[in-house]
Amino acid sequence: MSINASGWRPEAPQQGTSAAPTFTGNKALMLEEALIFEIGDIHTTGVDFSSPSPRRGEGRGEGTSASDGTPGNPVQPLSPTLSPEGRGRLGNLARTAAIGLPGLSEPETVRHYTRLSRQNYGIDLGFFPLGSCTMKHNPRLNEKMARLPGFADVHPLQPVDTVQGALEVIHQLAHWLVTLTGMDSVAMSPKAGAHGELCGILAIKAALEARGEGHRKIILVPESAHGTNPATAAFAGYRVEDIPATSEGRVDTAALIARLGPDVAGVMITNPNTCGLFERDMRTISDAVHEAGGLVYCDGANFNAIVGRVRPGDLGIDAMHINLHKTFSTPHGGGGPGSGPVVLSKALTPFAPLPFVEKTGAGFRLVEEETAEDHHAHTFGRMVAFHGQMGMFTRALTYILSHGADGLRQVAEDAVLNANYILRSLDETLVAPFGHSGPCMHEALFSDENLAEGFSTIDIAKGLIDEGYHPMTMYFPLVVHGAMLIEPTETESKAALDQFIGALRSVAERAKAGDVALKTAPHFAPRSRLDETLAARKPVLVWKEALAEAAE
Ligand SMILES: *Cc1c(COP(=O)(O)O)cnc(C)c1O
Repeated sequence: MSINASGWRPEAPQQGTSAAPTFTGNKALMLEEALIFEIGDIHTTGVDFSSPSPRRGEGRGEGTSASDGTPGNPVQPLSPTLSPEGRGRLGNLARTAAIGLPGLSEPETVRHYTRLSRQNYGIDLGFFPLGSCTMKHNPRLNEKMARLPGFADVHPLQPVDTVQGALEVIHQLAHWLVTLTGMDSVAMSPKAGAHGELCGILAIKAALEARGEGHRKIILVPESAHGTNPATAAFAGYRVEDIPATSEGRVDTAALIARLGPDVAGVMITNPNTCGLFERDMRTISDAVHEAGGLVYCDGANFNAIVGRVRPGDLGIDAMHINLHKTFSTPHGGGGPGSGPVVLSKALTPFAPLPFVEKTGAGFRLVEEETAEDHHAHTFGRMVAFHGQMGMFTRALTYILSHGADGLRQVAEDAVLNANYILRSLDETLVAPFGHSGPCMHEALFSDENLAEGFSTIDIAKGLIDEGYHPMTMYFPLVVHGAMLIEPTETESKAALDQFIGALRSVAERAKAGDVALKTAPHFAPRSRLDETLAARKPVLVWKEALAEAAE
């Protein structure tokens, strides 16, 4: 199929205008799927349980019936009625009514979840332009390594001498993260970027308290920061003050330096920033913050744009989280799993959280408690119960080793090249508010300023769904009106980028021409425009009918 790159196709058929609705509601392979509560039945089960045999002194409970062994046949609810004696043993914890969970036969269950999975969008299905999220292809080699039983089946409480290989993976990955960032040490346990932010800020807090400067209560955060930055600072007990951006889309260095003083604990700066630009004054900012007695946190979520090219340690940074699930592949989205190791400067290393892996003469040791002589002598505590995300560690190390130093450098270069290709291909169709600030880094930023009256970024996002794409990041960063933040990553081919550029140009032209059909898009998705605010604020999480039926 060829995409008309210059405009929309006015002859594109509207769904349902010429075809009669189907009996099932299915549209060929676009399958309607009801909730499991609507298609399931509390009397159906895909599993046969044999009746519990009565124990001595305990009569067989009335109503306990064996299944006849035929899958899918009605059986009694999975809660045998207990004898008075059995009930006595459970106290008032014995269930008195059916649990009310819907049941399906095994094939029905498999189909239900397979159908639902087809309504999802993933990186294995198509280009995923979500800015700031670095949605890159996950090499299958990573998956193969992570599934090796020696990594996949280890238990965090296993004796250390039985998990030497897993500890070596953590140790090697830590080594490469420290090398790539030019920092002093790394805390491996945080389980996401935001969790890493908290780890870094708690290390900063511990360092300040150790020097008797716990009274420093303010963290400076640029206006364009990811929402997790001010949230982290506030969660750790700091007051957040905004630093404005320049018209170029970078931190206003003069304003930041002017605000420094004895009440400032530190700054949190994203570099490259969320406008897709490199903060060129980073070294100047770090020096000024240190001179004023503060510490520098860098949000490293966008490290993909500079990996192998820039070492944050050279920029005077004290703590930075790395989203393994962004820069070093590993699947993410839909809530996890993530992994957010935090690299630390010499000043913060003594305060790093436990545990950490250390090489000994004979092998590897897991340091779980602080000792006066180790290099984390003033640890602030722990971030997690165990040691971090083993599966993510294995994938990230596989990614680093299979790319090598030259490959990682090329990742950054190609990611930046792809983003600039998108920026320059669309900056005449859409407004690029920082297009004048020079080449972008890993992501291209547009605003909705030149659309027709009444049209906004949301309409473009919904139009992209009809074109078969997951929308870009919308309305973020807040410093740009109706922001559209597009991050292609290095793993998209030129053909894939050209098709996306054609689709976005087509949708944008429709929004500029005031095509009213776009206001009700998506037309081809299983559900059209939803009230997302209502869904987020008042989610309906309980299926009341099933509970009512179960209670009967
Ligand atoms: C993704 C992201 C985060 C948060 O990382 P999570 O792993 O989602 O917690 C923080 N800052 C920026 C700039 C990000 O893109």
